[in-house]
Amino acid sequence: MPILNRQDAEEVDQYIRRLFASPSAGRAQALRRLFVEKLDFASATGAVTLAAGGAPSLAQLRPPPGASPLPITPREAEAYLRRVLIDPAESAPRRLAAAEVLARPPSAALPDPTSLPMAVGRGPDTGVLSGPPVLSPSQAESYDQCPRRYVLERRLHVLDSAGPYAQFGSLIHTVLERAERHALEAMVPHADLVVAEQILDEVFGSADFGGPNLTAAWRKRGLRLIHSLYEDWPGGTAIPIALEHPLVYELDGLTWRGLADRVEMTTPGELRIVDYKTMASPPTQNDAAVSIQLAFYYMAAGADPSLAEFGQPTAAEFWFPLADRKKKTLAFQPARLAELGARLREIAGRIRNEDWTPRPGRHCGRCHFRLICPAWPESRQGFAA
Ligand code: SF4
Repeated sequence: MPILNRQDAEEVDQYIRRLFASPSAGRAQALRRLFVEKLDFASATGAVTLAAGGAPSLAQLRPPPGASPLPITPREAEAYLRRVLIDPAESAPRRLAAAEVLARPPSAALPDPTSLPMAVGRGPDTGVLSGPPVLSPSQAESYDQCPRRYVLERRLHVLDSAGPYAQFGSLIHTVLERAERHALEAMVPHADLVVAEQILDEVFGSADFGGPNLTAAWRKRGLRLIHSLYEDWPGGTAIPIALEHPLVYELDGLTWRGLADRVEMTTPGELRIVDYKTMASPPTQNDAAVSIQLAFYYMAAGADPSLAEFGQPTAAEFWFPLADRKKKTLAFQPARLAELGARLREIAGRIRNEDWTPRPGRHCGRCHFRLICPAWPESRQGFAA
């Protein structure tokens, strides 16, 4: 549309005066802005007209004092978006929006990020599992608590590093296995405290928890556990028949594997499966009564041909040597076996279907993935953006 209106003509005139009065560094940018947003220029005729479509007034187009000008060219737009993305003073939604536009450009004028040098190729779009999963009772416990944390930790191995508690647990299991091997060979209920102490010294002697002081503190804790266990042995007169015994169980075409810390014969023909726990805070007796882990040991031991000659399981227990006296042993309730078998099947089916829905709860307090978890408000806006 031609510039017929006197007011528009005066605005253009004032704008151009200001433009040429401004420092030369910003003139090219301001001129381009003028012609892109306000005016049309016909190079064949040299005619200058107002841009069609009711362009905003020049006053509106002028950036506020001190504000950085909006980009005009695709290259400027890309640089602008990158600045917004890395600017910690920008709001999170604007930064996420900038990331979204850079990652999925709405126009071919912006570069495709996957074509940039050093860009890694896209990962497979086929899910996390590469075939039928081999499951374990501890995986089922972990999945049952939160499927999202399970897939990140146990399947994708994000932040997969063993902490000192895991290291301590592993060393104590080694000590108990070596000590109780003496009892198994001698066919007595348990090893001597002195033997267990010697083995603990050997095992912790080569351990490193991050320095001599920390290692000494963990060794002291180990010694406390061994004393608590052997000075008040929870197994009575039952005799061990297998230690660190591998168990395999087929359920609905999937293989489940586990390692029973201890299988002992309580009376002829009756077996008890024991799982040592090295933390000081046990679950409640009600939780242990319906433990997925103990249910698996009970079922798998019942189907294990190498244990059949000794008998059938009639009990499964957690032993918590570091817990208060009343909570040192927590027993599984065999009457709940059918219900827990169904639970194992359900978990296996959901893992097979790759259902990784987050399950928030008290356990989120110690979860490393809370900041990227859609179940929590602080990260939800990231998923909405
Ligand atoms: S924050 Fe909670 S819900 Fe989210 S992944 Fe971690 S444990 Fe699961």
